[in-house]
Amino acid sequence: MEPDYIVELRRQLRRFVEQKAPRDKRQQWDRTHQWPRELFRELSEMGLCALTVPEEYGGTGRNILAAVAVIEELARAGTFLCGPYIHCAFYGGLNISENGSPQQKAELLPKLARGELLLAYGLSEPDVGGDLKSVKTRARIEGDSVVINGAKRWCTGADWADYIYCLVNSDPTAAKHEALSFILIPSKSPGVSTFPIDHANLRYTASSDVHFDDVRLPLDAVVGGREKWGKGWRMLAGRALDVEKLEISAMTFGIAQAAVEEAWDYAQNRVQFGKPICAHQAIRHKLVIARTRLEACRLMLYHAAHLADAGQACAIESSMAKLFIADTGVEIALACQQIMGAYALSDDHDMARNVRDLLGMPIVGGSSDMQKNNLAAMWKLPA
Ligand SMILES: Cc1cc2nc3c(=O)[nH]c(=O)nc-3n(C[C@H](O)[C@H](O)[C@H](O)COP(=O)(O)OP(=O)(O)OC[C@H]3O[C@@H](n4cnc5c(N)ncnc54)[C@H](O)[C@@H]3O)c2cc1C
Repeated sequence: MEPDYIVELRRQLRRFVEQKAPRDKRQQWDRTHQWPRELFRELSEMGLCALTVPEEYGGTGRNILAAVAVIEELARAGTFLCGPYIHCAFYGGLNISENGSPQQKAELLPKLARGELLLAYGLSEPDVGGDLKSVKTRARIEGDSVVINGAKRWCTGADWADYIYCLVNSDPTAAKHEALSFILIPSKSPGVSTFPIDHANLRYTASSDVHFDDVRLPLDAVVGGREKWGKGWRMLAGRALDVEKLEISAMTFGIAQAAVEEAWDYAQNRVQFGKPICAHQAIRHKLVIARTRLEACRLMLYHAAHLADAGQACAIESSMAKLFIADTGVEIALACQQIMGAYALSDDHDMARNVRDLLGMPIVGGSSDMQKNNLAAMWKLPA
């Protein structure tokens, strides 16, 4: 049972999504790779971005359960609202609360709580996907400055985010897990250039190639301050990563729900061979299995979210949730697509977009293979 305030939050968000993000708008945002800034401002005014920020910095206190429920509800309309929410409340609010220096917290968290700042994640590189310890983007300290050179790929929102939360190699001579740091790079700094990449999924915005050419910043730009130089791996593999896995899983779950609901309705209205197609056993079974899988996803997601919310260890549960929900989301997508026949391939419905988004989920945010590797290691399976 969810607490009453989350039930009420869901009710408000469902109404918001129904009224303000109807299908014609979703189609337009999808075609143009855009998200609606004015609607995000309205969501921020509801206090949603404050859910990941401690009270002393203007937030409501860290509430992972509520923030995950927000993503789930917003994702029922695709990525157009939950995408920017994640850039603010998760990439920003959670990471800075967890890893920021006192100065970074004081400066950034109040703005993040009000929804006034957006961060992009700069992890992947042209030659680095899952193997993040091997990033080549190089940061070095010169006097009072940190100088960054290199390139990031697939940096979603780099063209409009205020900062890029950027994983760098800060010491090529150190052991790999001591060689990494995070730098908060203002995206309009001299030496930063972005080149948007077109892609089929997560079309709330473009993802970009980003080049850093002698980007020079004050040392304050090191996430956590000078003493966290070389401690990037612990930040990446720590609690923030557990919640990152939940955030992408909540998005997947919300989109999968939308797919099942659309197929469920469609199957009752589409008549073939003298009866609604939901009366044909092949379709009927697909619908029931999809809905059952959805319920399993819900249980995996909220089990891990409860642990994270209570501050308990949840690396295993969040990895299992990411693995299971991403892979099950693909099964749900393909079943729902078949149920809607040709119409699942037409832009007049949401299904085509939801399928595109769901197909990418076992890759983004730590691939399913990586989750399996991580789980095998956490369970100490000999390699
Ligand atoms: C639309 C979109 C948005 C994105 N946004 C961002 C973003 O904002 N920031 C960011 O940093 N990145 C982003 N990414 C990148 C995404 O996180 C990476 O695609 C993901 O980490 C996988 O990397 P890769 O595609 O390079 O795959 P690779 O690492 O090259 O792997 C390719 C395949 O091999 C498998 N594989 C690789 N190594 C192993 C192994 N050791 N064992 C088993 N299997 C293995 C993988 O699972 C995968 O199936 C985005 C990607 C997309 C498509």
